[in-house]
Amino acid sequence: MKNQKNKQLFKKAQKVIPGGVNSPVRAFKSVGAAPIFIDNAKGAMLTDADGNRYIDYCLSWGPMILGHANKDVLADVKKAMARGTSYGIPTELETQLAEMVVAAFDSIDKVRLVSSGTEAVMTAIRLARGAAGRDKVVKFVGCYHGHVDHMLVSAGSGLMTLGAPSSPGVPKDFAKNTLLAPYNDVDAVEKLFAKYADQIAAIIVEPVAGNMGTVLPKPAFLKKLRSLCTKNKSLLIFDEVISGFRLAYGGAQTVFGIKPDLTTLGKIIGGGFPIGAVGGKASIMNKLSPEGTIYQAGTLSGNPVCVAAGIATLRLLKTLNPYKKLGSMTECLCGGISEKLNAKGVPHRINQIGSMFTLFFNDGEVTDYDTAAKSDTKRYANYFRQMLESGIYLPPSQFEANFLSTAHTQKHLEQTLKAVAKVKF
Ligand SMILES: *Cc1c(COP(=O)(O)O)cnc(C)c1O
Repeated sequence: MKNQKNKQLFKKAQKVIPGGVNSPVRAFKSVGAAPIFIDNAKGAMLTDADGNRYIDYCLSWGPMILGHANKDVLADVKKAMARGTSYGIPTELETQLAEMVVAAFDSIDKVRLVSSGTEAVMTAIRLARGAAGRDKVVKFVGCYHGHVDHMLVSAGSGLMTLGAPSSPGVPKDFAKNTLLAPYNDVDAVEKLFAKYADQIAAIIVEPVAGNMGTVLPKPAFLKKLRSLCTKNKSLLIFDEVISGFRLAYGGAQTVFGIKPDLTTLGKIIGGGFPIGAVGGKASIMNKLSPEGTIYQAGTLSGNPVCVAAGIATLRLLKTLNPYKKLGSMTECLCGGISEKLNAKGVPHRINQIGSMFTLFFNDGEVTDYDTAAKSDTKRYANYFRQMLESGIYLPPSQFEANFLSTAHTQKHLEQTLKAVAKVKF
């Protein structure tokens, strides 16, 4: 693998960008490597500055479910761009995307568009607090909800890999309203409600966790959260920034048949452009200004180019309905990886659902942060580096989800399995 240009670009970047990257996990720190710099991408393939090509299983951390540079998405984006790139005045496109989201989710009557998943969560929590007239929010250890101050408490991958349980610069006063429970631990949540019932505005949860690696909810977990929220007049927020339009067109809530009060979306709904959204019942959403008094705003919210990319992406997903095929291809890939690793006697666990999965170098089941954290991160780093050498781009951290896109073919999977077979442990 040629690496001269990548190294050069990283050196230059470090002079003017902290750590040389604009989001921490991109620095490859936890996998003991220097980052690659991307020149272009098409379908399932990335090409770096040195001309190396990789099959991409990270897909911009989830959004590129149709693969890179999808021609229909690009065509709509170009059309939108030719009409101007931002007005700060409403467009019909925004209503169209909102209508598509409302049609996809039973729990959503109205949507507010924002510019990132972080902003979507920030808005959902302010809305929940304002609506409930309470301050405390229950979050699960290892779940990541963006870099909002009060959510940056035991928050998964980026922080897990950097060994920081929280971040300096988050006032204790903010974090004190964040109550923590282990993922999948219903008893812990019940205890929090027993102690703080009339102070809890909301529970926020990734209905399938993706940010401590893929962790599935146990059968009764989400149902119990729903009933605890209903009973205590707290709101249930599903953070579906990853799982929305990924696990099913209607997200994890459709797969598991649980209706949250609020849903946050991002990633896929922007088709590769910056976006976020919060949606829910009209009675709650109408509390947002200007209809209500809970303030939220954004210069580039509902940006026509981002929204056009989102509409094109959702339209294609709706027509293609690729979910079953994506799921069975992913299952096939995971089975193959397991087979190769078993042949080498390498202990591992693969958590998979639909087109997302994580290979944990772990002896036991991974059901929460503590069990995920037992994984052998050195072994993952070694695996990551050798796969990269073989032209396979995996998420540069043990605690992230891998994704497949509709552009991945059987051939890509075969090439990937060959690379796994070559890895030396
Ligand atoms: C990525 C992610 C976010 C944050 O979205 P950004 O667009 O990166 O701000 C929030 N929640 C979950 C579950 C995510 O995976």
